[in-house]
Amino acid sequence: MIQAPLAALSPDSDFVTACYIVAFSLFILGIRQGTHPSTARRGNLIAAAGMLVAIVITLSTDVIGNGGLILLGILIGTGVGVVASLRVQMTDMPQMVALYNGVGGGAAALISWSEFRHVSAGGSSIPLDIFVPILFSTVIGSVSFWGSNIAFGKLQAIIPSRPVQFPGQHIVNGLLLAAILAGCIVLGIDHDSPSQGLYVGVLIAAAVLGNSFVLPIGGADMPVVISLLNAFTGLAAAAAGFALDNVVLIVAGTLVGSSGTILTLEMSRAMNRSIGNLLFSGFGAVSAAAGEREERPVSSIGAEDAAIKLGYADSVVFVPGYGMAVAQAQHAVKELADGLQKRGVEVNFAIHPVAGRMPGHMNVLLAEADVPYEQLKEMDEINPEMPQMDVAVVIGANDVTNPAAKDDPNSPIAGMPIIEVDEAKEVIVIKRSLSPGFAGIDNDLFYEDKTSMLFADAKGAASDIAAQVEEL
Ligand code: NDP
Repeated sequence: MIQAPLAALSPDSDFVTACYIVAFSLFILGIRQGTHPSTARRGNLIAAAGMLVAIVITLSTDVIGNGGLILLGILIGTGVGVVASLRVQMTDMPQMVALYNGVGGGAAALISWSEFRHVSAGGSSIPLDIFVPILFSTVIGSVSFWGSNIAFGKLQAIIPSRPVQFPGQHIVNGLLLAAILAGCIVLGIDHDSPSQGLYVGVLIAAAVLGNSFVLPIGGADMPVVISLLNAFTGLAAAAAGFALDNVVLIVAGTLVGSSGTILTLEMSRAMNRSIGNLLFSGFGAVSAAAGEREERPVSSIGAEDAAIKLGYADSVVFVPGYGMAVAQAQHAVKELADGLQKRGVEVNFAIHPVAGRMPGHMNVLLAEADVPYEQLKEMDEINPEMPQMDVAVVIGANDVTNPAAKDDPNSPIAGMPIIEVDEAKEVIVIKRSLSPGFAGIDNDLFYEDKTSMLFADAKGAASDIAAQVEEL
């Protein structure tokens, strides 16, 4: 067997612990830096450096077995990761996060399975302080792996994004969960000679639960589900860390578990929905069915007239959404904003927490285009100022501006906080058609008297308006 890759270093255990402390301190620092767009990139690099320290020191310990297999795994993982991250489109990032998260959960479940086989080899008893984390990591890791795959499939449109429901689904899921718990209790009681068959049965039941838990959730709620499954993966990894007595895995898993939980709660707060409603209401089934829209008149506008409205305004607020990401319009929008500012127009950007398809999506795009951070206004900050805004320019956003969220208690998005562009003096909406957004529902904003629709690709429209502003 090939030795562990760095076994020749054979550091003593105090040195290993010291390196692990350095590694997770870097993780924490990295997460801290990730809280602001200006430092997020550096935060990623710091956390990656922490991971490198953790990997190098782990590979140098003598508990590592087949070095050749480990090197092969590292090479394959690095190759796939580098190619995927270079090729992924910004708009496909949520799917990629879902896949990576699933792989993490699956890895935790596989580690636990291997540890179960290892410690129970030859019919020996498994101490409960190791067996309980093994079972926890097996179940949660498996749920996370399969659930994340379904989330990926929905976002990638490989499977229907609408909720896939059948009568009695929640009862079936409840029974599955009860069976898994019962299996774990029996395994725990029999920890002197646990049944391999029952263990594999629990693993499979958790896989089925992962699928059946996510299938009935609508595509629009996938980001929250991914965030929740991310928290699950963290907890599964932490439990695997307890089973392996590996401190860095415990700390890293706990960090992922707690930050995933906080993100889940923040996102559900931004949508004004409880976690229970998000997971069990089958959101999207109604809206997908209600595809028929009545024909209503709208006012449309061209780039030249839009430039006049904007060029002679005192204050303009841009409200970006998913369409800006699709069109990659951020640089053209920045050019337009610069042109307006040169004319003395006050320019701001209103950022909705779930605009786009992932948390922070708009911040990332606008940071890439060098929009100054002080111009980015959170929803709670900009909404009170909206009535003073001369023109609100909605760029490829839809759901996050839909007044039905506050005016129609029967709307599927009722109660979701929105950017209140309907309070501005005038509104220009740039999108290609009257098609609905992610929630699949019509937007009354488009039909209001103060709204002018500019039907075009966001990038082309922003460039055209910027050119016209130059001419004024
Ligand atoms: P929406 O999905 O509501 O609307 C996007 C709009 O962009 C569409 O109506 C589309 O209209 C328009 N569009 C698409 N391509 C272009 C283009 N090239 N140029 C101009 N417009 C374009 O986006 P929002 O950002 O308003 O709302 C986000 C939605 O996604 C919410 O429902 C949220 O819950 C959900 N969600 C959020 C996630 C997050 O974490 N941020 C993740 C996943 C979902 P048209 O086709 O007519 O051009």
